[in-house]
Amino acid sequence: MARVTVIGTGYLGLTHAVCLADLGHEVLAIDVDEEKIAKAAKGEVPFFEPGLEPLLRKNTDSGRLRFTTSFAEVGSFGEVHFLCVGTPEGQGGQADLSSIYAAAGSLAPHLESECLIVGKSTVPVGTARQVLHLLRAAAPAGDQVELAWNPEFLREGFAVQDSLAPDRIVLGVTSPRAEPRIRQVYAAPLQAGTPLLVMDLETAELVKVAANAFLATKISFINGMAEMCEAAGADVIPLAEALGYDARIGRRFLSPGLGFGGGCLPKDIRAFRATASDLGVSSVVDLLTTVDAINLGRRDRVLALARETAGGTLAGQRVAVLGIAFKPNSDDVRDSPSIAICDHLVAEGAIVSVHDPVAMPQAAKKRPALEYAPSVSEAAQGADLVLHLTEWSDYRAIDPAALAQVVGRQVIIDARCTLDAELWRQAGWSVHILGRPQV
Ligand code: NAD
Repeated sequence: MARVTVIGTGYLGLTHAVCLADLGHEVLAIDVDEEKIAKAAKGEVPFFEPGLEPLLRKNTDSGRLRFTTSFAEVGSFGEVHFLCVGTPEGQGGQADLSSIYAAAGSLAPHLESECLIVGKSTVPVGTARQVLHLLRAAAPAGDQVELAWNPEFLREGFAVQDSLAPDRIVLGVTSPRAEPRIRQVYAAPLQAGTPLLVMDLETAELVKVAANAFLATKISFINGMAEMCEAAGADVIPLAEALGYDARIGRRFLSPGLGFGGGCLPKDIRAFRATASDLGVSSVVDLLTTVDAINLGRRDRVLALARETAGGTLAGQRVAVLGIAFKPNSDDVRDSPSIAICDHLVAEGAIVSVHDPVAMPQAAKKRPALEYAPSVSEAAQGADLVLHLTEWSDYRAIDPAALAQVVGRQVIIDARCTLDAELWRQAGWSVHILGRPQV
């Protein structure tokens, strides 16, 4: 078993620290956010992630997982240090790498003997090599500091399962020294058959952004097809199903709707586009510009449809918004399409009432002025329009006949294409679904 540290305890880092401890390693995790560290040390997860909190408690109770705010302690504790800090969207779509360099700068003076730093954050190609130069220049151990990049592919909502049993482990290295240590850290998933793909640093950095670019492209592709279906009077749902049976295409990430959001895909494709532009790769710039534009266009389409159902203007209309998280099983509201739509509704004079099973506290931090309702029926009280914007399974269980009793007008836009339209229509609702004919 290894002594490892995890730097940055957000969605990625906290999950990684908990799962490494659960695999049997001694783990020390650090964050600059003292409140986060105090909560984690008490066994509290500051975000919604199914299964994470019990596993955190189990491993803090056993003493295998500890938390600190001291980089000196981190430097002397570990042989392997995982860098998991945030890389949010910066100016002009470029990745903001200030946390990466700050974390490396805080750690370096405390690296006194041979060790391995492993980057997990998503970064533009070329970043890892700069981090390596910074570390070696500032660390007392100098060239004995080794760097590898091990991008993370976990999905929020499935983070524990994806961390304990990833479908592949990608490792970018500069020498043969890193691989044996990584094999030791990931011994359990490797024994279970997870493939380890070892490559150079730059390729490993690119694998992550290429994977996200592909996923985003697939979503925007089907949403482009939804636009075609609407224009041609066709139906995107059977179209997607028929495409998905082709093994070369596959069914996953082929769900039409409101498009992607969250803390990863949007900022990752924009950062990738910025890097491609810097490197003069115009084909990738053009591709990702279109992917982003189709994605953002879905929000406009929902708003246009909302205006249409309201007779041209949303001013004074009561709108119930179902779902504020960027996707179900998460309370993440970063770049949430639903928040963007709420902003427009409010700007156009609508009276908005929001419901979400778990994400309202996070949303309230970003949009304190929005009205949040404790239940779907309270959100829908007197509504002229209901918008289904996040496909929580709870919403599929809504009884449309019961909801009809509380709304002002029975009009719903299903922007996630997951409600049983027939059921709603039978209960007297006018149902509008992106990419499907209006019956
Ligand atoms: P996050 O914002 O939830 O967490 C980042 C954490 O880093 C915060 O707790 C912050 O306080 C901490 N931090 C910032 N500067 C620091 C410093 N100098 N020293 C120590 N800690 C510091 O972000 P996240 O969602 O966990 O993402 C982290 C990285 O992982 C990003 O590059 C992201 O693209 C990538 N990633 C995220 C996911 C995901 O599902 N969230 C999946 C794969 C990859």
